[in-house]
Amino acid sequence: MSKTILIIGAGPAGLSAAHLLCKEGQKVIVYESHSTAVGGLSQTARQGGFLFDIGGHRFYTKAKEVEEFWHDILGEDFLRRTRLSRIFYNGTFFKYPLELGDVLKNISFFKGCEFLASYIKVKILKKKEIHSFEDWVISQFGVSLYEAFFKSYTEKVWGRPCHEISKDWAAQRINNLSISKILLEFIKNFFNIRSKQNIKSLIEEFDYPRKGPGMLWERVSAEIQKMGAEVHLNHHVSSMVSHEGKWQLHFSNGDSSPMADHIISTAPVKTLLKGLKPAPSQTLKSEIENYKYRDFLTVILMFKQRDSFPDNWLYIHDSRVKVARIQNYKNWSPEMVPSPEYTSYGLEYFCQKDDDFWSMTDEELVELAIREIGIIDLPFTRVEFSSKVIRMPYAYPVYDHNHSQRSELLQRELESYPGLHLAGRNGLHRYNNQDHSIKTAMIVTENILNKSKRSPWKVNQDAQYLEEESRS
Ligand SMILES: Cc1cc2nc3c(=O)[nH]c(=O)nc-3n(C[C@H](O)[C@H](O)[C@H](O)COP(=O)(O)OP(=O)(O)OC[C@H]3O[C@@H](n4cnc5c(N)ncnc54)[C@H](O)[C@@H]3O)c2cc1C
Repeated sequence: MSKTILIIGAGPAGLSAAHLLCKEGQKVIVYESHSTAVGGLSQTARQGGFLFDIGGHRFYTKAKEVEEFWHDILGEDFLRRTRLSRIFYNGTFFKYPLELGDVLKNISFFKGCEFLASYIKVKILKKKEIHSFEDWVISQFGVSLYEAFFKSYTEKVWGRPCHEISKDWAAQRINNLSISKILLEFIKNFFNIRSKQNIKSLIEEFDYPRKGPGMLWERVSAEIQKMGAEVHLNHHVSSMVSHEGKWQLHFSNGDSSPMADHIISTAPVKTLLKGLKPAPSQTLKSEIENYKYRDFLTVILMFKQRDSFPDNWLYIHDSRVKVARIQNYKNWSPEMVPSPEYTSYGLEYFCQKDDDFWSMTDEELVELAIREIGIIDLPFTRVEFSSKVIRMPYAYPVYDHNHSQRSELLQRELESYPGLHLAGRNGLHRYNNQDHSIKTAMIVTENILNKSKRSPWKVNQDAQYLEEESRS
């Protein structure tokens, strides 16, 4: 028998769930607070023939079913891109992921000795307890490499010292990077040893829709509507009410949804739990109140000039500037600019939506971005210049030292709300990429359809979901 399922959020998790449920003949209604765009953090924004990604979204996954899902929808519209993303440190560009040959080429003999000595030191004097991101990285690479290649960028991203950042984040994001791997890669390159098939790894190549990630989500949204689903933009859910085994949503404009059997929420769990009725325990409420987020602001500079830098994006490890990453959109897909004569950069800043940076005017932010491009000395001109500022709240769920306990408490208490399912990145307060978010959607839809009983919380925690490389 067909069930009615209400979905909060038209991002990757919400739309994937909707797609799978529609294919099974269920009645699906999606509510999205954005007034014009679907895709959530993975949307594509537009201005005057230019397209922009919120952050630069590589499509890669180890989950076959996720890969099939997005390839079935976009097919030939996926491009295979070669990755180049260097670190700008001390006036020099270093390849990322780090390659020994490249590091040695770009640093002085003395700096090389310093990196090596601090690495050997930490391996001999092994620290017993690892509490923070700082402890974890130093234990793997030594103090000097940590300070050069991890500290400044990570502190820009999270806005706090690395010793206050959870070790879980390091273990999740830098899981597969080790000095032994870097050394092995160096030896293989030196002797020109490659695997028989010479398969490029996920680190070196990735898929990307020719018109940005939003192209996938716009198409999923159109397909589900053809299958009978409703997608309502400009509908901000303010509360979720359970009554006699049925669920109803209320919106900030005063409207309400029809009654339904299930809700899938991909909205930030902290905001959603405030409107959950019956209300959760006081303990859970105060724990979830501690969930923090990092907000994200992109200043886009568009201009007429063919020359730019060769990378898809750059990591900026330079304390003279506030920018953390710079995207070069046409190196993701040539269709992100009106023609090859044009270039657009996205200068990415991490901040809090209640801080002074977030509330600077667009004009002030654009002037700052132009100054910072000058300091880094990247190709830029004011010919046919235009700009845009995109503010994206709730971009990064923050992990603190109590992350695991808080998440366990939330999972336990939600068991007493049958029919309520959390999925996605902010829905689970997990540092989930698109593929993880889609996978959580797949799991909750199977649970709703009684095809299995699995936990979406396990995604991005088990070894098989961990990525091969370190940072986004
Ligand atoms: C800077 C950056 C770079 C990234 N790079 C990559 C990458 O390279 N590769 C990759 O795979 N992933 C990347 N990601 C992660 C990717 O963006 C997310 O995994 C994905 O978008 C999460 O999907 P989601 O549906 O869970 O959440 P979201 O994309 O956040 O979508 C949730 C939706 O819910 C809506 N919503 C929220 N609250 C409400 C409410 N109360 N009522 C109604 N609607 C609501 C929001 O408006 C949003 O549209 C990146 C993320 C960021 C921030």
